[in-house]
Amino acid sequence: TQRFIWPMAQFGQIINMYQRAYASSARIFGLMDEPSRIVEDPEAEELTISDGAVEYDDVTFGYDEETIVEDVSLTVDGGETVALVGPTGAGKSTVLKLLLRMYDVNEGAIRIDDQDIRDVTIPSLRRHVGYVSQDTFLFYGSVGENIAYGAFDASDEEIEAAAKAAEAHEFITNLPEGYDTMVGERGVKLSGGQRQRISIARAILKDPEILVLDEATSDVDTETEMLIQRSLDRLTADRTTFAIAHRLSTIKDADGILVLEDGRVVERGTHEHLIDTDGLYAHLWGVQAGEIDDLPQEFIDRATE
Ligand code: ADP
Repeated sequence: TQRFIWPMAQFGQIINMYQRAYASSARIFGLMDEPSRIVEDPEAEELTISDGAVEYDDVTFGYDEETIVEDVSLTVDGGETVALVGPTGAGKSTVLKLLLRMYDVNEGAIRIDDQDIRDVTIPSLRRHVGYVSQDTFLFYGSVGENIAYGAFDASDEEIEAAAKAAEAHEFITNLPEGYDTMVGERGVKLSGGQRQRISIARAILKDPEILVLDEATSDVDTETEMLIQRSLDRLTADRTTFAIAHRLSTIKDADGILVLEDGRVVERGTHEHLIDTDGLYAHLWGVQAGEIDDLPQEFIDRATE
């Protein structure tokens, strides 16, 4: 049912943007950064990080009347990795957008080191919570400038070190003008796997205590996949990490795995625990490991009902 609501909701958002554009063209840029009207509390204070612990306390959220995320609770200790798994449309991205405060929860609260994210300034929140995805926006500028985005005082040496750690240095030096090659709109086109590594390099430079990873779904060859995985392992070590994983093999060692279905957490635990539970996760694992051909009908029925 949710699938049919989405295009309309999107249309509403476009109309809204259009109206705001009329009101003030300058505000459009704000809107591009912030898809919804998040309001900063005038009394907001800087987010201060001690451990990087994150808590979702009975979080419920919907983009409109429809509830998309329901009663989600979780706690992550500083430095741990939590993976979100589940069918498309289950609400994984939405759960993570709430942590970046792209939208506000309808009920419940999200806290970072015991501070409600609605009580802290938005720039301080964005400084401490990094976001890595393959859809990362590259602006028209050099590769180096794109890596330094968010860390404007980075030196060339630091940029190169970050690119190396992100396994991006090699392809960058093979570009026509190396780090000075212009990318983004009108610039040299980069593949999804390359953009993702730029995004990882950016996060390495920014060095946030908390990281949100939206794993790529696109087809990259096995070697690129290996490079990306290796750079991600470096990036996530000793950092609180939330990862949306499509390939379960990449999150097998996560400290905790949450299985979402229709906006609710239906299973949680370590990989071993979830395999023993023999539920949705165990069957998804079976399919991806080639042990079973397809999900049993009951799970497919549940996902499409
Ligand atoms: P997942 O990441 O698990 O695939 P999402 O969080 O992207 O799931 O989506 C959960 C549900 O929320 C889907 O039904 C999707 O259509 C809907 N949705 C996502 N973004 C928006 C939006 N901006 N406005 C309205 N509905 C949305």
